[in-house]
Amino acid sequence: MTQLPAYEQLPAAQGVARQKKALRAAGLVLAAGVLLTGLLGWNVWRNARTALEQQFALAANERVDRVRERLLLQRSELESIQRFFENSNEVSREEFEHFVSPLLGDALGYAWLPRIEHGGRAVFEAQVQASGMLDYQLHELGPQGDPVPAQVRERYFPVLYGASEYLQELPLGLDLGSTLPGRELTQRVLIGRQLTASMPVVLPGAPVADAAGVLLAAPFYRGGVTTAAGEEGRGGLLGILVAAISYRLLIEQGMDADSLAQLALTLRDSAEEQPDPPMYRSAVMAAPDSGLVAERHLDFAGRDYLVRIEPSRDFLQRNEGHPQLWVVLGGLLTSLLLAGYVLALLGQRQRALQLVAERTAELRANQLELQENQARLHFAMDSAGHGVWDWNLDLGKVFYSHAWKAMLGFRAAEIGASPDECARRVHPDDRTARSEALQRHLCGETSLYQSEHRLRCKSGRWLWVLDRGQVVERSGEGSPRRMIGTQTDISSRKAVELELGEVNNRLHGLLDAATQVAIVSTDLRGFVRSCNVGAERLFGYSAREVLGRPVPENIFVKEEILRRAHDLSIALGREIRGFEVVGALVGEGHEEHEWTCVRRDGRQLKINLIITGVRDSSGVLTGYLGIATDITRRKEAELELRRLSVTDALTGVHNRRYFKEQLELSMARCSRSGEPLALVMFDVDHFKDINDRFGHEAGDTVLITLCQRVSQRLRKVDVFCRLGGEELVVLCPGSSVEQAAQLAEALWQALRSQPVEGVGVVTASFGVVGWRLGETADDLLRKVDRAVYRAKRSGRDRLERDDG
Ligand code: GH3
Ligand code: MG
Ligand code: MG
Repeated sequence: MTQLPAYEQLPAAQGVARQKKALRAAGLVLAAGVLLTGLLGWNVWRNARTALEQQFALAANERVDRVRERLLLQRSELESIQRFFENSNEVSREEFEHFVSPLLGDALGYAWLPRIEHGGRAVFEAQVQASGMLDYQLHELGPQGDPVPAQVRERYFPVLYGASEYLQELPLGLDLGSTLPGRELTQRVLIGRQLTASMPVVLPGAPVADAAGVLLAAPFYRGGVTTAAGEEGRGGLLGILVAAISYRLLIEQGMDADSLAQLALTLRDSAEEQPDPPMYRSAVMAAPDSGLVAERHLDFAGRDYLVRIEPSRDFLQRNEGHPQLWVVLGGLLTSLLLAGYVLALLGQRQRALQLVAERTAELRANQLELQENQARLHFAMDSAGHGVWDWNLDLGKVFYSHAWKAMLGFRAAEIGASPDECARRVHPDDRTARSEALQRHLCGETSLYQSEHRLRCKSGRWLWVLDRGQVVERSGEGSPRRMIGTQTDISSRKAVELELGEVNNRLHGLLDAATQVAIVSTDLRGFVRSCNVGAERLFGYSAREVLGRPVPENIFVKEEILRRAHDLSIALGREIRGFEVVGALVGEGHEEHEWTCVRRDGRQLKINLIITGVRDSSGVLTGYLGIATDITRRKEAELELRRLSVTDALTGVHNRRYFKEQLELSMARCSRSGEPLALVMFDVDHFKDINDRFGHEAGDTVLITLCQRVSQRLRKVDVFCRLGGEELVVLCPGSSVEQAAQLAEALWQALRSQPVEGVGVVTASFGVVGWRLGETADDLLRKVDRAVYRAKRSGRDRLERDDG
C-alpha cells in the first residue's frame, strides 16, 4: 500500500490542536499588545501629569507673587502717608484727605488716630466738638454693635479723621484699644515702633463680602522714630496711622473672572489658634482629588500668612488633555486587530488543510463505495441470472462475467476478452438487426442499446437472450470509450411468446370466421381494443376507424340509452351514465340486452348484445367484451306474429284477446290516476237474417263496412275490438259514461243513417257503461252485456246506458 501524503493523515484531533495553537498565538499577540499599550499609556499619562504639575506650580507662584506684591504696595502706601505726617507740622483733615485720596483704591480706607491720655480726654473731645464735629465723642462698640462711651483707659487712640471710598461712614471717635485686635495691635506697634499688621478683624462699616480684613498700623512720632523700642517710646508717639485692608479686595481686585476661576486660594494667619475658617477663601472651589496643592508663607508686617492654592475644575479641564486615553484606546484596537489578523491567517491555513483532508477522505470513500457498488452489482447481476459485459472500446477488449460464460455453457478460461467472442455466436438471421441496434446507440441515436437475438451455446443449441447496454464514457469528441451491458436468458419467455402468438393468430382467425357475429373488446372507458370482421359488417365501420377510439356515440339510439340509464339508475340506486349504461350489470357474469343500433349508413338494426367483463390475472375488471348478433329479421317476425295474434282477420280491428289485455291495462292505469273509464258495446240486429237473406259473404261485408265507419269516428286513445261474431266493443279510457254515451249516440246514428250497399240499412243495439273502482274486467263485461241485452229486449236499434 502506498504511503498517504501528510495532509491526508490529518486526524480530527490534530485539527483541534492546530486550532488551539492558532488561538494561543493570537492570545499572545493580544497580551503583548495590551502590555505595550499599558506601558505607553502610563508613560504618556506621567508626562501629561508632569506638564500639569508644572503648569500648576507656575500659576500658583504667579498668584502668590501677586498677593505678595499687593501687600507690599499697601505697606509702601502707608509708609508714604507716615512720611507725609513726619514732614508736616500739623496735618489738618483737608490736607489728609487731599494727600490720601490718590492712594485710595486698594485699601478700604486710611485714618489718623491721635494718642489721647486719659487726662486730656475731655479737653480733646471739647476741642474736636468745637472744630465743628458736634457729636464727636470717644466711644467703643457695645455688645449689640451700638456705640457706647469709651471705658476709662490710660490712653486712647480714637479715630479723628480719615478717607475712604468704600466705608459708608468712618467710625469717628471709635477707640482702637476698645477691641482685642485693636489692643493687641497698639501693644505691638508701641513695642515694635514700626509698621505692624493686626490679627484678622471684621472691618466696621464695610460691605459684608469685604468685611474680613486686616488693619495695618504705622506709628507717628514727632521727629521720627528716635527713641529706642520700649515703654518709654510712647513718650514721642503722637498717634497711629491705620490702613484698613480687605482680604478680598487685596487678592481679587484687578483680576479678571477667568483668572480667578482657575485656582482655589485660601489665606490663613499662621499665628491663629483656629485656622478655620480661613481669613480668605476664594469663591471658586478646589477640584477634588486632583493631588495638586501649593502652600507658600508670606511674611508681612510682623505676621506670617499661609497661602494655600489648589487647582479648580476649570484649570484641570483646560490643562488636562488625557492623551493617555487615546493612546490606550488606539493601542487596544491595534492589538485586537493584530490578534484577529494572526488568527485569521492561521485559521485560513488550518481551514485549507482541513479542506484538503476532507476532500481526500471523501474521494477515498467514494472510490471505496464505487468498488463496493461494482462488486455488489456484479454479484446481483450474476445472482439474477444476468451475464454482464464491460467493453473498453479504446483497448478493444471486453470483460465477460462468469455468469455470461456459464449461461452459454463455458468455463471461465474458455472465453477470451475479444468482442468477437459474442459477435460470432449470434444467429446469422439476427446479426443484422443486432449490429444495427448497436451502431445506432454507439453513434448516439438511441439512449439505450437493446436487442433480442439467439446465441449459440457450447452444446450447439440456440439460446434466446435479451442484450441491453449503454455507453458510460465518451471522449471529448463524443466517440464512445466504454460500454457496459447485460445479457439475460429469455428462452422460456420466447417460447411462451411464440406459443402465445400462435394462439392469438388462431383466435383471430376464429373470430374473423364468425362473420355473422360482431365481437368487440373495449377498455373500461369504452375505447375499442379489437373488433372482428363480423363487427365491421354489422356496424359498417372498418376496424381501422374505431381501433383505439371510443365506441362511436351515435351507434346507439339516444332515447334508448337515456331510458336504459334511467332504469338502471333506479335499479342500482346510483347514477348510471355514459358508457357504463352498456355494461353496468356485468358483475361476475354477463349482461344481455336488446338494442336498436344505427349503422354507419344510417340503417337501423335490432341487435342482441351480450356484454362480458374482461379481467386481468388478479381478477380486476379491465374492460368489456361485447358480442352482438343481428336480430332485426327475428324481431320483425315477432312483431308480425304479435300483430296477427291481436287482430281480427276479417275486419282488421283488434280481437278479443287484445281487448282483454287493454282493458286490464286501462283499469290499472285509471285506478292509479283516478281517471274515468267507459265501455261501449253493440251487437248487429238480426244479423242471422242478413246472412240468411244475402249470404255469408254479404254478412262479412256488412261487418267490414260497419267496422270502417266506427273506426273513422274514434279517438286515438279509444280501442276498438271485435269480441266475436257481430259483437263489437269500444274501450274509452279517460271518458265518463256521459262522454261514452255521446260517442255511442254518434256511432248508432252513423250506422243506421247510411245503408250498406246490397244489404240496406243495418242497425245495432248499444250498451254504454262506466267502470267503477273495484270492478273486475268480467264484472264490467257482464254489465255492458246486460245493457246490450236490455236494448235488444226493448226492441233493438237503440242505446241503453248503465249509470249504476
Ligand atoms: P239478434 O238481433 O238477437 O242479435 O239476432 P241475430 O240473428 O243477430 O242473433 P244470433 O246470435 O242468433 O245470430 C248471430 C249470427 O251471426 C249467427 C252466425 O251465423 C252469424 N255469424 C257469426 N259470425 C259470422 C261471420 O263471421 N260471418 C257471417 N257472415 N256471419 C256470422
Ligand atoms: Mg245479432
Ligand atoms: Mg249476436
